[in-house]
Order: sequence, then structure tokens, then C-alpha cells
Amino acid sequence: MAKTLFEKIIDREIPGTIVYEDAQCVAFRDINPAAPVHILLVPRKPIPRLDSASAEDQALLGHLMLTAPKIAAAQGYGDAFRIVINNGAGAGQSVFHLHLHILAGRPLKWPPG
Ligand code: 5GP
Repeated sequence: MAKTLFEKIIDREIPGTIVYEDAQCVAFRDINPAAPVHILLVPRKPIPRLDSASAEDQALLGHLMLTAPKIAAAQGYGDAFRIVINNGAGAGQSVFHLHLHILAGRPLKWPPG
């Protein structure tokens, strides 16, 4: 299988501004930020979409959810951030390697567009 764009960033084959990493995941700044803070939190495991995760990924998904607030806090926005997962092209997913968008640093309206 060809590497996804995000695997190439994780493996330092293409540039990325990495702000956090551990054994299970890597976080880097979005190249086209939609907010002053826009970070992508990506599992090292190349799960294509949220709905392709399985029961064996349960702990990994939990780890991502527990790590995202820590990243927001480290950016100075521990009290006001948004997590977005686009699932499928129809929902705006363009890179098919599961990722959490962490958005902060401006008023975040509801509902999102
Ligand atoms: P999606 O649309 O799949 O939910 O989100 C993909 C995100 O990846 C987009 O916000 C897009 O700006 C970002 N992105 C696309 N290509 C690159 C890249 O080469 N580097 C980085 N850092 N982000 C990228």
C-alpha cells in the first residue's frame, strides 16, 4: 500500500510542523489553517476513516481523545477548542488517514459549516 500523505509527514519524508508526538500518534500544524490554532492529530496507524476503525482500535481512539485536550492546552487554549473529524468525502474528508482537527484561537460558531 502506498503511504498516505500523513504517513509521509510522520516519517519525515515531507515537511510538517510537528507539535507533539508519542508512540501512538503525531500532531502537526495544518498547512491551510482554518483558525489561529489548527493542528491535525493523527494516529501512526493508517486507519483510513473513523468508520473503518474497529474494536481493536478502541484504546487508540481513546488515546487520541485524551491527547487532543492536552495539545490544545499546550497551545494556550485548554478551555476553548473544537475537535472535528470529517468522515468520508461527502463530509469534507480529503486525506484518508484518520485525523482529528484541533481548532482554537477564534470564536467558533455553531453549527459549523
Ligand atoms: P480533511 O479535509 O481530510 O478533514 O483534512 C485534511 C487536512 O489536511 C486539511 O485541513 C488540509 O489543509 C490538510 N493538509 C493537506 N495537505 C497537507 C500537507 O501537505 N501538510 C499539512 N500539514 N496539512 C495538509
